[in-house]
Amino acid sequence: KRIWELLREPLAGRAFTVKERQMLGIHGLLPPSILSQGEQVFVVMQNFFRYESDLDRYIYIMGLLERNEKLFYRVVTENLELMMPIIYTPTVGLACQKYGLIFRKPRSFSISRGLFITINDMDHVYDILCNWPEHDIKAIVVTDGERILGLGDLGSYGMGIPVGKLSLYTACAGVKPNQCLPIVLDVGTNNETLLKDPLYIGLRQKRVSGEVYDAFLDEFMRAAVKRYGQNTLIQFEDFGNHNAFRLLEKYRGLYCTFNDDIQGTAAVTAAGIIASVKITGTPLSQNTFVFQGAGEAAIGIASLLVLAMIEEGTSTEQAVSRIWMVDSRGLIVKDRPKGGITSHKARFAQPHVPVDTLEEVVHLVKPTAIIGVAAVPGAFTEQILTDMGKFNDRPVIFALSNPTSKAECTAEQAYTLTKGKCVFASGSPFKPVTMNGQKLTPGQGNNAYIFPGVALAVILCGVRHIPEEIFLKAAESLAGQVTKENLANGLVYPPLNDIREVSTKIAIDLAKFVYQAGLASTYPEPQDKEEFVRSQLYNTDYESFLPDLYDWPPPGIQCT
Ligand code: NAP
Ligand code: MN
Repeated sequence: KRIWELLREPLAGRAFTVKERQMLGIHGLLPPSILSQGEQVFVVMQNFFRYESDLDRYIYIMGLLERNEKLFYRVVTENLELMMPIIYTPTVGLACQKYGLIFRKPRSFSISRGLFITINDMDHVYDILCNWPEHDIKAIVVTDGERILGLGDLGSYGMGIPVGKLSLYTACAGVKPNQCLPIVLDVGTNNETLLKDPLYIGLRQKRVSGEVYDAFLDEFMRAAVKRYGQNTLIQFEDFGNHNAFRLLEKYRGLYCTFNDDIQGTAAVTAAGIIASVKITGTPLSQNTFVFQGAGEAAIGIASLLVLAMIEEGTSTEQAVSRIWMVDSRGLIVKDRPKGGITSHKARFAQPHVPVDTLEEVVHLVKPTAIIGVAAVPGAFTEQILTDMGKFNDRPVIFALSNPTSKAECTAEQAYTLTKGKCVFASGSPFKPVTMNGQKLTPGQGNNAYIFPGVALAVILCGVRHIPEEIFLKAAESLAGQVTKENLANGLVYPPLNDIREVSTKIAIDLAKFVYQAGLASTYPEPQDKEEFVRSQLYNTDYESFLPDLYDWPPPGIQCT
């Protein structure tokens, strides 16, 4: 029995040496050709390419995570640009929608799947956490599945998201996988299709909300820190807009927590804007920003830009006055007759008469930068893009809505209509565009540039809670890593393939910051932060399964 357990657990497989095979009593059960891990990577990639659909590739590669964790992370880390769209958006979204088909029962000691805690488990959340086989959890990614990517309410099918996010903690920032725990809080789903889906894996009931929901979340937060310690990092992911802001406000001062949809997005976008200043030459606080959308992403980005402008020496009022927002009811202005202004939006309400369309707003405000985060495809019209080219030498155009089909405009439209002058970034990848013999490379404002590095620093330094400044520092660190060559090609982010080093650098910069700011609790304080961070990174090399053998000195001879 032990043999089969060994072969099925996430172990080295064909990389076992002859000695290991003999000592473990599994010799002959594996083919004679012994592969190094590098050779195993080759075999995996051959299989990966054999699959024709991305969903099959997802299933194959996540199966590898169950069989051989170290190999999985070696493969993903070495092929990040190829793997990112599989284990993360967009394929992970498709996987979530089909989770009922691909879900397999978790294996003991395998962390590839997460923990389901339902509203029926009220008063027993702690006991459920105790069922998770790993003990040294440092980071949790949790969702209630209400707003999975741009796909809406997927209930327990949303598990793919915390699993995917945490695999990026490890692949992008070297956080140890056994320290990561993906969780779905299942409070039901309002998705009628799922409620009727025979494959659906979650509770078949409407979402619980109100006081019961809040009490459940409170219990979860308390149970998590009781089980894993006060410093446990809890990342909120893909909660509905109405809960996301509320829960962030409620918990951010009490727990070590952040919301990636608000704060991670904010940091990655702010980094792109900060880097764009090096191209446009217009200091941050002299820019004028128009947002299409005023949701989690927009409010998060705007708040961080305000913080960055204040750091530059501007007053809060001046900074806020530089920001114009358009939501589904038009420009957000004070006392808008159409209403719909939540307290988060109110901060950015302009003293202005109502304006209905984005086109009119752009024409009126003449912004230096427009940022699209409303998931309205084509919202950056020909008129808007042409205007932006007229108003600015180097207009900044960020079309961030995901997936590609939701983008406000394509890279080609942005470059063509601004005569190649614009600084362009998008949420989903676009291919480079060649204009007048020059290759223009669109940046991808992928949250994966930020959250893994932030998480690594928070975990290693024992940060107790996460003030907004941490995200500003992360944004500045990321922007600082954009090279002159990148900028010359119009690129405001480092290449995605460098993300491992980028995240490590962010974590090192943050480590320096949190100790200086008195936010760290890991003592003694490491003197060399870089050496400290690098020494803690997850290593994909196999460990030997043989015990370390040594002799005692012969009788009569003492150890000296
Ligand atoms: P959200 O919280 O639901 O907000 C959506 C916002 O869009 C709301 O303010 C909504 O207005 C507004 N809106 C809807 N229809 C509109 C219209 N016709 N005109 C103007 N505004 C309209 O969603 P979110 O989390 O902010 O995400 C929004 C988009 O950003 C998604 O496509 C997402 O994929 C993308 N995103 C990209 C990144 C990235 O690239 N790194 C990160 C996060 C999000 P009301 O407030 O009036 O309802
Ligand atoms: Mn998200």
